[in-house]
Amino acid sequence: MRRSEYFLPTLKENPKEAQIVSHTYMLRAGMIRQSSAGIYSWLPLGFNVLKNIEQIIREEQDRAGCQELLMPTIQPADIWQESGRYEDYGKEMLRITDRHDREILYGPTNEELITEIFRGSVKSYKDLPKLLYHIQWKFRDEVRPRFGIMRGREFLMKDSYSFDLDFDSAKRAYNKMFIAYLRTFARMGLKAIPMQADSGPIGGDMSHEFLVLAETGESEMFCHKDILDFDIPGDEINYNDDLQPLVNRWTSLYAATDEKQDQAQHDALGDKLVTARGIEVGHIFYFGKKYSESMNAVVAGPDGENVALEMGSYGIGVSRLVGAIIEASHDDDGIIWPEEVAPFKVGLINLRSGDDECDKACEDIYAKLQNAGVEVLYDDRNERAGGKFVDTDLIGLPWQLILGPRGLKNGVIELKNRASGDRDELSVDAALAKLTG
Ligand code: ATP
Ligand code: MG
Repeated sequence: MRRSEYFLPTLKENPKEAQIVSHTYMLRAGMIRQSSAGIYSWLPLGFNVLKNIEQIIREEQDRAGCQELLMPTIQPADIWQESGRYEDYGKEMLRITDRHDREILYGPTNEELITEIFRGSVKSYKDLPKLLYHIQWKFRDEVRPRFGIMRGREFLMKDSYSFDLDFDSAKRAYNKMFIAYLRTFARMGLKAIPMQADSGPIGGDMSHEFLVLAETGESEMFCHKDILDFDIPGDEINYNDDLQPLVNRWTSLYAATDEKQDQAQHDALGDKLVTARGIEVGHIFYFGKKYSESMNAVVAGPDGENVALEMGSYGIGVSRLVGAIIEASHDDDGIIWPEEVAPFKVGLINLRSGDDECDKACEDIYAKLQNAGVEVLYDDRNERAGGKFVDTDLIGLPWQLILGPRGLKNGVIELKNRASGDRDELSVDAALAKLTG
């Protein structure tokens, strides 16, 4: 992409409305634009990152045996009346009346709709277990939308749902999602710790929130120090194996959100206790027959009797993750994207656009990188070098390739790593080899 053609409206000043760094940088880097309170448009740079995050989530869900579908944003009220949540959900739900005076709503979550789909299509235990997910916009009329896309009213969520015949099978589904979440967040360069969370009236221990440590996080959290250094399950993971020992290892050390904090643990842990704030990026939750019983979602069991389905739901805040990654990875100059989610891998900076030699050399490098499948943003604008540096640091591309008349004369180009700040002078070929290798 050529910077001169790209729609990237960056800002020089920190916008006054932003209270946390991710919101500031997302506005300054031209990633989002507010349309009304808690509702945002995603501009090309922001949308690019959002799609990268979505893709990582999708790959890890698929790998865990979860199948993607797509449910609508608008849902009928009657299924929510059936489950009993239509009244309970209160003012967070955006309720709409259509031209036929039918009550509809903008979905804040999808337990009812997926249960309705499932009960209409699956009649026998032989079709279980099933894990289904979608990635779709949600609307919750939050009392206090804030921190940009971190707590929006319209936001993108990945939500999965499991359907099983019995508790043991439901637990296997839960464990798959537990492991898939560890892998998903790690691939984005995040350390997200599974924390024992409130499981509501269902009780039990099958509710975990995944929190990324950040001072600006809205949740209070407590954990054993050593859990921060646990290894993430690698590519060799087989989701058909018994995952319980792995899950047990992660849950063997204390880690809890404020609702589940335990003073006795805190006293016992002493200086091994970490007290911090965190951003909730995911939540996995087993809720048994809550919806299947109220909505009559049953299958014929092995002995012909009707059995209500065992269910769980598993959410990830896709759009919130964009902010969470920035909170976890930035410096005073701007964002530092982990390579897996970066909108472009390389920012190519022409220090003297308009100079024939520099233009020619940069065009050549630009073409070579593109041909090698490397995503590159080429700053070809007729602007001062200083402004280009500031902009490129701000938008946080992992690598910068900087070429000007002096380097050209000496046959070298500068390669800068955004995260470490390390700069190398290399031959163009060596730099290209490094970026395409
Ligand atoms: P919170 O406690 O932050 O309100 P929640 O318990 O309401 O979250 P869930 O219903 O479990 O959230 O939704 C799944 C995920 O969706 C959350 O883990 C979070 O990452 C994300 N999410 C929830 N509400 C919002 C929001 N208003 N804006 C952006 N992301 C959100
Ligand atoms: Mg909420």
